[in-house]
Amino acid sequence: ESESTVSITVVGASGDLAKKKIFPALFALYYEGCLPKHFTICGYARSKMTDAELRTMVSKTLTCRIDQRENCGEKMDQFLERCFYHSGQYDSQDHFAQLDKKLKEHEAGRIPNRLFYLSIPPNIFIDAVRCASLSASSGNGWTRVIVEKPFGRDSESSAALTKALKQYLEEDQIFRIDHYLGKELVENLSVLRFSNLIFEPLWSRQYIRNVQLIFSEDFGTEGRGGYFDNYGIIRDIMQNHLLQILALFAMETPVSLDAEDIRNEKVKVLRSMRPLQLENVVTGQYKSHVRGGITYPAYTDDKTVPKDSLTPTFAAAALFIDNARWDGVPFLMKAGKALHNKRAEIRVQFRHVPGNLYNRNIGTDLDRATNELVIRVQPDEAIFLKINNKVPGLGMRLDRSNLNLHYAARYSTEIPDAYERLLLDAIEGERRLFIRSDELDAAWALFTPLLKEIEEKKIIPEYYPYGSRGPVGAHYLAARYKVRWGDVGLDQ
Ligand code: NAP
Repeated sequence: ESESTVSITVVGASGDLAKKKIFPALFALYYEGCLPKHFTICGYARSKMTDAELRTMVSKTLTCRIDQRENCGEKMDQFLERCFYHSGQYDSQDHFAQLDKKLKEHEAGRIPNRLFYLSIPPNIFIDAVRCASLSASSGNGWTRVIVEKPFGRDSESSAALTKALKQYLEEDQIFRIDHYLGKELVENLSVLRFSNLIFEPLWSRQYIRNVQLIFSEDFGTEGRGGYFDNYGIIRDIMQNHLLQILALFAMETPVSLDAEDIRNEKVKVLRSMRPLQLENVVTGQYKSHVRGGITYPAYTDDKTVPKDSLTPTFAAAALFIDNARWDGVPFLMKAGKALHNKRAEIRVQFRHVPGNLYNRNIGTDLDRATNELVIRVQPDEAIFLKINNKVPGLGMRLDRSNLNLHYAARYSTEIPDAYERLLLDAIEGERRLFIRSDELDAAWALFTPLLKEIEEKKIIPEYYPYGSRGPVGAHYLAARYKVRWGDVGLDQ
């Protein structure tokens, strides 16, 4: 009887991401009955901990969703019984061999499948991959490795990382996570587009005037700027999360929903794009601001950030896809920390209605009167379409209204965290939502020249107050393409 089992090793189990995201996601999957019958979860890190201590640590972060309240405590106990801990160095084959031995005991002669989740700083990725692959990979089952961003900091370092990983792993064993791809509304993008007749025919330069990809956080680095300062917002958010959404948004219809078919189309989009030009980019950094008697810190007030840092905490950029579908359509990206709100959304602004009979009933702001499709990825997920509508009454006056799909009102289930979807996919070998190495290369090729230029020329970011809407330069950038950001103004 050759039953199989999955051993999931969380490398860096003592860390922040493991506690905040990975263990809770594994538990949610367990609750839903999505994990295989036979599985073991093992935490691995240098910190000394017993199994019991790991369980106590993990138990503090587990929660049950509203629809998972039944037997919640009982399920947690059952889950924790399947969690173990092994302490070791990341560069020691011996220590990984001890881990291997421990895993084998739990696998009890079943076909062992092994998933390693590398939740560790990037400088030790390669050591951990080497040791895991040489000393703890599966003999007759599969071995997969989930890697977290950052995947390098430019084309060269990313290529070097890929090359090093491929010394020990095949491409199909590497699962590069971009957790934005696991978000419900990002996954829904292609459902919206390819399973509704009314969107796909409009999805081109003929009807779409511009597309906006917006990310904002309402807090700064808050004492954790050490990692960020070496990367900046362009690498941290744009080159990966926003660009991935753009590629999914703009791709041609894939042959099928298979991972390779989808990723082939995404690569084509990325390879059709122009590398970013400095003149199409605005960078910013937040400065201290006093409001309501409270002093909000500047980025450089963060003790882990050098006082003279020029690292952008905000950036806006115009990108272009030089293919038949998107020729001339600006794709505007905007991402920033310490802004006035917390949000991630996609905004599609359509062209004017040619020869609109109702222009004079719309009011003066013709620009505002075009249709706009908004996909709010987080928080408070929603899809809405702004339309012109007659204000009820005897007169003929038009206003803007929303056709609104508000998730909280429409669906009673809580939306699973992105990490649940992605972990489940990795266990099932579904690669659709993971980044292939050629996609990564194409993404870096677009951003590397710009990033180098910003650093070499020591471009001074435009300073904006903590909690504001970001630098004014972002508006000038949009205006150059006769566009307005959809997230500002009264009727957002
Ligand atoms: P972390 O807490 O800084 O590190 C995870 C663990 O790695 C630590 O508990 C520590 O365990 C070990 N470690 C830390 N620094 C080390 C060093 N210099 N040398 C050797 N071991 C070290 O990281 P994290 O926030 O959990 O993130 C893990 C990975 O996910 C990183 O690659 C990060 O970039 C990425 N990521 C994180 C988030 C997030 O929300 N936190 C989001 C996206 C991506 P021991 O000391 O016990 O060995």
